Amino acid sequence: MEPTRVLVAEDDGASRTIIARVLERNGYRVVTAADGRRALALAGPDVEVALIDWMMPGADGVAVCRRIKEATAGSGYVIMVTARAGKADIVHALESGADDYLTKPIDHDELLARVRAGERIAGRERELASAWREARDEAERDALTGLFSRRHFDRALPAAVAEASPSRPLSLLLADLDHFKRINDLHGHRVGDQVLREAAGVVEAVTRRGVDVPARYGGEELAVIAPHTTASAACEIAERVRARVAALRIPARDGLVSVTVSIGVAQLRGPAGSAHAAAAQLIEEADMRLYQAKHAGRNRVAA
Ligand code: GH3
Ligand code: MG
Ligand code: MG
Ligand code: MG
Repeated sequence: MEPTRVLVAEDDGASRTIIARVLERNGYRVVTAADGRRALALAGPDVEVALIDWMMPGADGVAVCRRIKEATAGSGYVIMVTARAGKADIVHALESGADDYLTKPIDHDELLARVRAGERIAGRERELASAWREARDEAERDALTGLFSRRHFDRALPAAVAEASPSRPLSLLLADLDHFKRINDLHGHRVGDQVLREAAGVVEAVTRRGVDVPARYGGEELAVIAPHTTASAACEIAERVRARVAALRIPARDGLVSVTVSIGVAQLRGPAGSAHAAAAQLIEEADMRLYQAKHAGRNRVAA
């Protein structure tokens, strides 16, 4: 395991050297700052525990503490070091965001015990933050296909609508697998799932990573938000999806399964009230085109 990184900010040279030596001897990686300015410069996102002198030239401990909390999104553990054991100073330090305090002269055993406690808490904070990020990212993705989730789509579409303009057209593709129920009925849901995954793979492959938003809109309905794209350009994308999906051959116990897809394409028209209203209208229009594609015989694009 990597040694825990401790920032020691202390303008008194003798104290700084002793604190650093005690920590290093106990396996910590120590970075030292001799004044407030240097401490601010070192208060980056990799600080796990910090021992900050309350009184330093250049910037006081409160400013350094704030900087560490900002840079580490709250996970950096700050121990204020103060020569004045006055209750008011300690209260002020804790109210300014410090997690703990030590009073000078520093007792080595106490120093280590408090740094270890801080290390534990900082580690737990980071674990929590990363679990939270993971959960959030997961909610943005559909588990079966790996495409963006409906939840993500619902937020991305109004945002894309708000960014659209006559010089930045926005199009929406709505695709629905044809006679998909039949595939489930004939070959089972497991094969159905695989067909859905491969169709989603086509959509993912045909769209521009980081620009378009390919999403699972519903059961066997996939959608693509295509910014900077006119309806005719979107039709070309849709046609590529259609042709590639029709060319898929998915192995099943009873042979190769093929599938087709119908796609409706709509381009955002003029400013229409709120972004949410315009997004709803765009979906309605793409859905209407999809319905037309189905009724015209499926395996086709309608715009
Ligand atoms: P159409 O050409 O008119 O779209 O016919 P369809 O059979 O595709 O349409 P319908 O709406 O009748 O059936 C859709 C089917 O998709 C029914 C549902 O069981 C299936 N489905 C939805 N989500 C999933 C899924 O995640 N996995 C599997 N295997 N099937 C799914
Ligand atoms: Mg000082
Ligand atoms: Mg459907
Ligand atoms: Mg269908």
